[in-house]
Amino acid sequence: MAIYNALTYEIPDVLVSAVTFGIRVEVPLRNKLYSGIVTRVHQSKPDYRTKRIISVLDKDEIITSAQYELWLWLSSYYCCSLGEVMSVALPSGLKLSSETKLIFNPSGDINEMELSDDEYLVSEALSIQNELTIQLIQDILNKKTVYPVIRSLLEKRVLYIKEELIEKYKPKTIDIITLNKEYDSGQGNIQALDKVRRSELQTRALLAIFDIKRKQPFIKKIDVKNRADVDTQPINVLKNKGIITIEKKEVSRLVEDVDENTKDITLSALQKKSVDHIMAGDDTTDIHLLHGVTGSGKTSIYIELIKNVIATGGQVLYLLPEIALTSQIVQRLEAVFDKELLVYHSRVSNNDRVEIWREVIYKRHLVVGARSSVFLPFYNLKLIIVDEEHDASFKQDNPAPRYNARDTAAYLSRIYGAKVVLGSATPSIESFQNVRQKKYTYTHLAKRYGNINLPTMELVNLGKMLKTGRMTGSFSIILKDAIEDALEAGEQVLLFQNRRGYSPIIKCSLCGWAAECTNCDVSLTYHQHYNEMRCHYCGFKCAKPNKCAACGSDHVMLLGLGTEKIEEEVKELFPKVVVKRFDYDTVNTKRKYQDIIDKFEHKEIDILVGTQMISKGFDFDNISLVGVLNADALLNYPDFRSEERTFQLLTQVSGRAGRRSQQGRVIIQTFNPNHPVFQDVISYDIQRFYARELKNRNQYVYPPFYRLINVWFRHKKMDVLKDAASILYDDLSKKYKSRIGPPHDPPLVRVRGYYQQLIIIKIEKNNVTLRQLKVDLMATRSKVLELKPFRSVRIGIDVDPY
Ligand code: ADP
Ligand code: ZN
Ligand code: ZN
Repeated sequence: MAIYNALTYEIPDVLVSAVTFGIRVEVPLRNKLYSGIVTRVHQSKPDYRTKRIISVLDKDEIITSAQYELWLWLSSYYCCSLGEVMSVALPSGLKLSSETKLIFNPSGDINEMELSDDEYLVSEALSIQNELTIQLIQDILNKKTVYPVIRSLLEKRVLYIKEELIEKYKPKTIDIITLNKEYDSGQGNIQALDKVRRSELQTRALLAIFDIKRKQPFIKKIDVKNRADVDTQPINVLKNKGIITIEKKEVSRLVEDVDENTKDITLSALQKKSVDHIMAGDDTTDIHLLHGVTGSGKTSIYIELIKNVIATGGQVLYLLPEIALTSQIVQRLEAVFDKELLVYHSRVSNNDRVEIWREVIYKRHLVVGARSSVFLPFYNLKLIIVDEEHDASFKQDNPAPRYNARDTAAYLSRIYGAKVVLGSATPSIESFQNVRQKKYTYTHLAKRYGNINLPTMELVNLGKMLKTGRMTGSFSIILKDAIEDALEAGEQVLLFQNRRGYSPIIKCSLCGWAAECTNCDVSLTYHQHYNEMRCHYCGFKCAKPNKCAACGSDHVMLLGLGTEKIEEEVKELFPKVVVKRFDYDTVNTKRKYQDIIDKFEHKEIDILVGTQMISKGFDFDNISLVGVLNADALLNYPDFRSEERTFQLLTQVSGRAGRRSQQGRVIIQTFNPNHPVFQDVISYDIQRFYARELKNRNQYVYPPFYRLINVWFRHKKMDVLKDAASILYDDLSKKYKSRIGPPHDPPLVRVRGYYQQLIIIKIEKNNVTLRQLKVDLMATRSKVLELKPFRSVRIGIDVDPY
């Protein structure tokens, strides 16, 4: 429970000199012990009885004053407590409470001589029990003050804080073959061939190795497999026979392997102009919007900017959407910045996070990370890049603080005096509006790098295709032919459908009954692979019903289209090609993700079917065709941003086609070919799209003209919920009448077994009113929550919801 704002404790005389800003202290709270951070040392007594600090954990501060300034801003801007901010901002390795579980570090080299008596006792106990709570450690040592011991053991890496140990970021490696010395000459080659002469496969593999060696500085195993058309086995035999050695090498160390241009890029004139424009800056703002079409070389521009900033000793934060992190962008940055680069994301284990936390303060100059990296302790941050700034994953939904890392970057830049570069091929309406109002500068790259054409775009009218019998399953004849053409030319294909599973609806054709989740108001998706029904909100699973649960008939049909079904149809239509699926079900670990990316890169996959995961950060040179199976589904979200999202998503997936040489082609299937959003997408008319969207937003009182605050109420009982919501509503609307909408049902009334109600606040962008409203809102919320019947109601405030 991290719901507190700063609390006041008494400093015992012996600790007076040790207690300073930014260090951790051990304090009692409600009969438990916690580690807390000192934010202020003062003389004013609060109106409650203060308890005493028990011990001091740190000599040096673990947060900087700049970080603390950010925390304060977040808590007031996003209406949450400092405790809530701290809980996401501090790595859990730096947060301790009585219930924290500690485990033995199996790989730790313990030097018993270095341990104090207490440390030794704890490490002994741990090696026997594997897992201890802090409470137990208090018992073992028979004292209350154990945090300093634990801290020291953590630092000596004797123990770990228990946490699911999540995969650590590892640089990508590939297998490299070298010929062993005695076989690495003309004469040696002949001897080697002689050793394998009885096996055709081994001979082929060996010949391929000789051939590649003549042309390339590195012999990649994968290339040998492709060239010789063999699998791994004969290559392994060559190794066992002592002819070759196979080693794993980090891709970034093999400069030749990475795009020749990444290491030493020569910017095009247009790119150079953009860099100069951004570096020169503007008198009025430090925030720059870089709007460059897909493939215009924004990454090259970022790289140049980063080099400039690092050269003057500054630090750079490069924010990416979470899923793009494991991708090629990191590799490209790694190739250039090597040891300067640090990658920080939610998949980094917590122990590593503590390490990174310390390191950022002292060493690295470039941090690449997802949204939570805004909390790192920078000392000289001079540039923040927000790549794909329109991406919704920069906003945290749950729990509080519900912050947007893009907007947080703007505040960070003020604290540090850093530049911000927001980059996207499809900037958010908010950022676009900020440009119009001269709050951001604007740089536009309208052409792809190297003057490569943008893909051609076509809409296919599904209704017409159906009527005229030109559909095979979900594929129109146009899309099907285009796939054939691409495959024939040896090119690769991406197929996009933003729905995982096999089919999202299972319905009775007699009575209309549909299978729904028992905890949520949503239909269950059928997953063929698991042969079960699943809820995508709460994870509920059950068997696929054979009969209608309402009328008992067996006329139950699978409706709607998911990636699994498309994969199946593709396999039927094109039995000879390799098809893979790229969605949350198939790439739930980093290894699987990398595996599919590698295979795709090496052209071992012909067709990749995926959800929006394929739209982020994919840069492949052989995709000539992108197909969207049903674009209408994208527009069906009940949200004022659904058209903006559709425009962005379709433009982004399309941008994966034809990035290097051949003309790319995009085919979008829809029942509404005349829908203005689709028309804007296919004509690349982003200006027309923005103009229309801005008009609508203004008319219907939405951002960027007004600010939104959603107030969510959750409870198991609907009547309790409704009472709580209307009390808050009545109270606030006294003062802010027209701005507050009455409580109502959100699109999903029930999620994970909880009912929900929603109050939407729309308020003009006047900082004074807005700030006051937030203060009043927080106060009213506390008041409601203190009323007895509502103690278990959850009220979540979401400022600038996304
Ligand atoms: P974006 O991020 O704008 O979609 P990228 O930065 O991925 O575009 O660039 C698209 C392609 O063009 C990449 O393959 C990249 O290697 C290449 N490219 C971009 N700028 C340059 C440059 N200055 N020199 C050589 N290649 C470049
Ligand atoms: Zn029925
Ligand atoms: Zn559910």
